[in-house]
Amino acid sequence: MKLIENVRDMKEMIQKEKKNGKTIGFVPTMGFLHEGHLSLVREAVKKSECSVVSIFVNPAQFGPEEDFSRYPRDEDRDLRLLDKEGVSYAFVPKPQEMYPRGYRTYVQVQDMENRLCGASRPGHFKGVCTVVLKLFHIVQPDTAIFGQKDAQQAIILKRMIRDLNLDIVLRIMPIVRDKDGLALSSRNAYLGSEQREAAVCLYQSLKQAEQAVKDGERNADLVRSLIQEKIAGEPLARMDYAAVVDSENLKPLETIQPGQTLLALAVFIGETRLIDNMML
Ligand code: AMP
Repeated sequence: MKLIENVRDMKEMIQKEKKNGKTIGFVPTMGFLHEGHLSLVREAVKKSECSVVSIFVNPAQFGPEEDFSRYPRDEDRDLRLLDKEGVSYAFVPKPQEMYPRGYRTYVQVQDMENRLCGASRPGHFKGVCTVVLKLFHIVQPDTAIFGQKDAQQAIILKRMIRDLNLDIVLRIMPIVRDKDGLALSSRNAYLGSEQREAAVCLYQSLKQAEQAVKDGERNADLVRSLIQEKIAGEPLARMDYAAVVDSENLKPLETIQPGQTLLALAVFIGETRLIDNMML
């Protein structure tokens, strides 16, 4: 695996690979890798002739009060893991490489960016779309692989790709969970042991809602209140939002449409904000 730290070198390598007719598979991450990330990485290695994984904690997607500076980082371990998976290139740019002095250009997917997580994290998806579009221009992937864990992100990026006529196939991989059902996340590292136990309430609330829908419930408000009650029953948890939305445009639904309904929630466990979701 080659480690690349600046944009010019990455572009040069990609040009060489493309000249040799290689297909490029790309996995953008913020590092502190876990099995969720690695499931995406394995897909890239398996399905593409040249695989690129970026590690970049993107300052533009963090709010001023958020955890940018304390976001967990372990670059050496990440690089060892990626090497072991047979990745071709690790792209690890510095913030000033991606956002040089005087940087002014941002990408927004209007309306969708203000819903769900966007409502409590203003500017978050503008930061995500901007960095992902920049990375797409640098890496020029044929396929980009993202996780269902960040469902809103995947839906917004799909729209950005369509709206901007990018020739990139988006692949969305299923959520990788711990044994008790908690979705793997770099932010789980913030949780103390009691909080870690409490955090399973996100998954359990989704399972309960899913069961109600399996039993025939179609009222979205009622399903949402099932989730809220479950979270309210966990003393260490504080609800940010629970939403039942159309999985194409993220608009709230009154009636659940199996096959096109996304159930999504964000919950604070102490100071740590966790997200999870389920497609119905
Ligand atoms: P992050 O490093 O949090 O920006 O995540 C990088 C990519 O890994 C995103 O596409 C995430 O959706 C994906 N990802 C994170 N956690 C998981 C998980 N538990 N299962 C599947 N994909 C995940």
